[in-house]
Amino acid sequence: MKKIVLCIDDIKTNLFTLESVIESVAGNLYNVLIASSASEGLSILLRHKVDIILLDVMMPEIDGYEACKMIKSNKKTKDIPIIFVTAKKNDETIEECFSVGGDDYINKPFNHVELLARLAFHLKLKEKDKLLQQEKEYAQNILDLQNNMILVSDGEKAINVNKALLDFFDLKSLKEFQDKHRCIYTTFINDEGYFYNKKENNNLWLESIINISLKEDVLVKISIDENEYVFIIKATPFYSQYIITLTDITHISQQTLEYKHEANYDSLTGIYNRNMFHRLIDRKITIAKAEKKSFIFIMMDIDFFKKINDKYGHLVGDDILRGLSKLIKNHTRDSDIFARWGGEEFVLTFDVSFEKGIEIANSLRKYIKNKKFDIVGSITCSFGVTEFKQGDTLKNITKRADEALYKAKESGRDRVCQV
Ligand SMILES: [Mg+2]
Repeated sequence: MKKIVLCIDDIKTNLFTLESVIESVAGNLYNVLIASSASEGLSILLRHKVDIILLDVMMPEIDGYEACKMIKSNKKTKDIPIIFVTAKKNDETIEECFSVGGDDYINKPFNHVELLARLAFHLKLKEKDKLLQQEKEYAQNILDLQNNMILVSDGEKAINVNKALLDFFDLKSLKEFQDKHRCIYTTFINDEGYFYNKKENNNLWLESIINISLKEDVLVKISIDENEYVFIIKATPFYSQYIITLTDITHISQQTLEYKHEANYDSLTGIYNRNMFHRLIDRKITIAKAEKKSFIFIMMDIDFFKKINDKYGHLVGDDILRGLSKLIKNHTRDSDIFARWGGEEFVLTFDVSFEKGIEIANSLRKYIKNKKFDIVGSITCSFGVTEFKQGDTLKNITKRADEALYKAKESGRDRVCQV
């Protein structure tokens, strides 16, 4: 397909020379349109798909510079290459030709070979630009099609971002993202188990992500509108930059947390279950052995709980278990262990002396006795207290506490006994 060359010059003979040279030498490649003023040229541009423009500088009314600015500022015509054809040879003219957006210039009188070579060169350049632009759009489209958030960064600043990322942050453009966050790491929350970049202004954080990723998934937490999101982050070096992908696993990680909670906590009372108690007490015994320390171990049991269930039903019994757990929880610290052993039986540990342990058990006993439960009124509990001694295993310390509890039950309940 022939390319269309638009020649704009106020001197008719110049136009005819251009036209005849181009059509006689390269008529198989080009069709020539001519305009004897800038305004005529502009109106041709509106009607025809012009591929390249040869533009005279000196013209009455609108000169070549002005015409060039107008063509280059119009979205539809800005990519058409403009070659100035000028009789002036001074530096200012050359400078001006380029500063108004011209792509090249040739001098009058022109050399035919040079004119055709420049036409061909600029058309080829334009073609390459077009291909490059298409490739860029193609790459951006691929990025935008991904559900994962993707960005390109040099470690300090985002250089490209995809649509998923902009949508997540509710932003419209890369510029908005750069202005607000600079790079993705500024949005990470410092939380246990999540990657966080303390240092700024280098790409070490990306190298860390790459290194950790060799062993395990790297998680980051990002907060937006008071909601927290969890992502797996991956980074790949790309020339002197990095391609970073973030996969949203908020939903999955929430589920994992729920499973973990289910595995460790008693669903009725919300306190630790027996599984979790075993893990915690194992660790406690290990530490107590290593540090030659002691701790208090208490087993407690609700008195006549079976009668409560029989008389008022299991729902009332459940309310008592919940209320009692809450009451005791309020009187223990985070360092104490408090767990449901099973049924109406509970276990506790305290890092205190034996005397103090008895004292604590007695005050818990009183708190329980003084509490008024709905429907049932007051209840009582029995306590068996023992102390961890070097050489103890979980089995024998449990056995002693159980014996002490049995003693409390046998000797009339609502009391604290020790072994
Ligand atoms: Mg002229």
